[in-house]
Amino acid sequence: MRTVYVLLTMDCETAKSDVTPYAAQMSGSGPIDYRESERSIRGYVETAKSYGFPTTLFAHPEVAVGNMELLLSLEKQGACLGLHLHPYKFKSQNYEYDLGAYSASEQREVLHRAMQVWESALGKPPEYFRAGYFSANDSTYHVLHELGFRGGSLSNPGRILPSHCSVWAGAEVYPHRAHFGFRLIKGDSDFINVPVSGAFGRPVARGHAGEQGYEWPYIPHTYDHRKIIQDVLRRFADDEPRFGTVVTDTHNDQDYSDPEHPARQNLELILQSLQEFCKEMDMLPVGITLDALCELVLKDEA
Ligand SMILES: [Zn+2]
Repeated sequence: MRTVYVLLTMDCETAKSDVTPYAAQMSGSGPIDYRESERSIRGYVETAKSYGFPTTLFAHPEVAVGNMELLLSLEKQGACLGLHLHPYKFKSQNYEYDLGAYSASEQREVLHRAMQVWESALGKPPEYFRAGYFSANDSTYHVLHELGFRGGSLSNPGRILPSHCSVWAGAEVYPHRAHFGFRLIKGDSDFINVPVSGAFGRPVARGHAGEQGYEWPYIPHTYDHRKIIQDVLRRFADDEPRFGTVVTDTHNDQDYSDPEHPARQNLELILQSLQEFCKEMDMLPVGITLDALCELVLKDEA
């Protein structure tokens, strides 16, 4: 039986009370305050857990501070914590653009500052990363590695969104060692990237972030999530990848504690579809966190 890894992620955004009008216009996601954030994060983790799956939470520096106790307690219960960053949302800083717009030295500077805030709250430096909008350029992986990161979920294969410096057309689609010269191909570094899982049979001219690309399990959106899961699993059956991984994403502004909330219902539909289609295709869905998956990929190729 073929194993299908299931990586359930959440980008935990700065509360609206902490971002400037400019930042809110660059990215509208995010809870009203850290109470709403807590309800969303907790509801997501608990719903995933009720289906037997662990979670990976990428926290923006302000969320690491604002939801510190919650995050540390979820980590004790098995969640993997990472860093999330939209430079313009970073409190008390003056960055204007998405990460991929910056040079290597500028990325090093903003990431280092974000790491310090994150570490001051959570007691250790972050080792896993995802940028806002999946923004990155060819320097990003190397900079992260130099700063001590072990891996991340940085890419959204097929996405074309130059206004947010997020272009992943032609990118490697399965978990892999990053290439430090060119972000779209496999390399031989010790930094592991786990792409989100695109439904390449379901192209979109304009997705939820305004991108050209493919439907993917971005939970809050009105995509047909059942068909997305089926499309992704059929690709795994054809490609027989070493680490076929279904990677979902969402934000901490959806009330996953409410069984009637559309995002909660989409999450349950995704998890139920996974179980159903895996059974049909003789696959075994195995929940995993990003740190554990990066270790597997590192060891596999060593
Ligand atoms: Zn974000």
